[in-house]
Amino acid sequence: MQNAQPTASHFINGAYVEDTEGAPIECIYPATGKVIATLHEATPAIIDQALSAAHAGQKIWAAMTGTERGRILRRAADIIRDRNRELSILETLDTGKPLQETLVADATSGADALEYFGGLAATLTGEHIQLGQDWVYTIREPLGVCVGIGAWNYPTQIACWKGAPALACGNSMVFKPSETTPLCALKVAEILHEAGLPAGVYNVVQGRGAVGASLVTDPRVAKVSLTGSVPTGRKVYAAAAERMKHVTMELGGKSPLIVFEDADIDNAVSGAILGNFYSSGQVCSNGTRVFVQKDIKAAFLKRLKERLQGAVMGDPLDEATNFGPMVSADQMNIVLGYINKGTDEGATLVAGGKMAERDGFFIEPTVFADVTDDMTIAREEIFGPVMAVFDFDTEEEVMARANDTEFGLAAGVFTNDLTRAHRVVAGFEAGTCYINTYNLAPVEAPFGGSKASGVGRENSKEAINHYTEVKTVYVAMTPVEAQF
Ligand code: NDP
Repeated sequence: MQNAQPTASHFINGAYVEDTEGAPIECIYPATGKVIATLHEATPAIIDQALSAAHAGQKIWAAMTGTERGRILRRAADIIRDRNRELSILETLDTGKPLQETLVADATSGADALEYFGGLAATLTGEHIQLGQDWVYTIREPLGVCVGIGAWNYPTQIACWKGAPALACGNSMVFKPSETTPLCALKVAEILHEAGLPAGVYNVVQGRGAVGASLVTDPRVAKVSLTGSVPTGRKVYAAAAERMKHVTMELGGKSPLIVFEDADIDNAVSGAILGNFYSSGQVCSNGTRVFVQKDIKAAFLKRLKERLQGAVMGDPLDEATNFGPMVSADQMNIVLGYINKGTDEGATLVAGGKMAERDGFFIEPTVFADVTDDMTIAREEIFGPVMAVFDFDTEEEVMARANDTEFGLAAGVFTNDLTRAHRVVAGFEAGTCYINTYNLAPVEAPFGGSKASGVGRENSKEAINHYTEVKTVYVAMTPVEAQF
């Protein structure tokens, strides 16, 4: 049996901290359903300790130069890369994602963020604005204590994508992982401190939604960055608004992926597989509404079915496995519920459709064809390995249908017509768009959603604007002219 028990449940003020008064949180390995660690939810005393440490640590951190801050973040990136295998195994235990994926997509992506924002830390400056003899200068200041709240699908990556820009800008952070995946963020905190981070600058507290809610409403907190579902986003955004806090909201999606008849079919099928079955479909930006132009529908579905034979379900720690379980029994049941709705509402089941006959929370890669726009599986985020394929005739028609959703996280198009590709992307109501590929999220590029899918952007230089505030200083060089 796997054992992944951490040193303690929380990481506060540079050290592991335990408080067994907190309600237990059982961490379950999704491939077996067995408990691999038991942690404790943060009590009010733990939450207070973390926020006090973050408040004090932020002052010390912000007083350092950007070069000094950046050096520590880059050192942490190096340590993460050196320990990639160990961290990837932990990510696999925490989430059930295959080691084949976690070795290249999780700790490495966290390291990229620390390296990128470590590099930017020394470059953050204000502006000089000349006004005749007078002049204005601006100071780019940190916000203060930032709270990060994570979803369960990418626990290491989310802890770094929030922590790296926050810290680069001179903020401190209290991060609350999802209760489903409590392990990885603790390692991020440990490594940041090993790299030289002053105590209190990056803290991790465990807990369910209520712990997140008490962090969000605390007056010491200046900003909240949430990765989660739209309903949670609405609650957290509203709670943050009460005290006019800054927010970044990375929320859910129901993104369209349009395949025109002139597309390279194999490439489009690869995009659809990547955009529906990577991480067993538990990816926010997935292109779960695949619109295929009528003339190539049969060829697309035939090739897709052939390619699904390549899915290897098995022990996620075996590097030959390329398709893992759902993160939890709850999520598995939610997804199975959607699959039943798909069948009940008249979609054609092309592949999969049930649990795999093995231990753990595995669901077969599932494809529905002949899906219509009003079906539940066409409208709601499923967050599992369920692809819905729709037919379309014209570009005008498909654009209207693609945008007919409250979500706006991502969108993709496969076509070999250059002008059509750019025209379609210009028409998408989505924050992150793809032409002839899908689901790549390099740290250099802004990532985030429009409409109900979110507010603000993570990654890239854009993230700096969301973790700093600009102070304007007007400098007069002549006497003041008053009206009387
Ligand atoms: P949830 O919205 O259920 O939870 C997100 C986080 O918020 C969890 O840590 C949760 O704690 C916490 N939380 C719940 N209620 C509150 C509250 N009232 N106040 C503060 N915090 C709260 O999302 P899931 O964890 O189920 O993740 C899946 C969702 O995340 C999907 O919708 C997916 O699209 C989205 N997502 C978005 C991404 C993006 O970048 N746009 C990336 C990845 C996922 P706990 O879980 O412990 O209850």
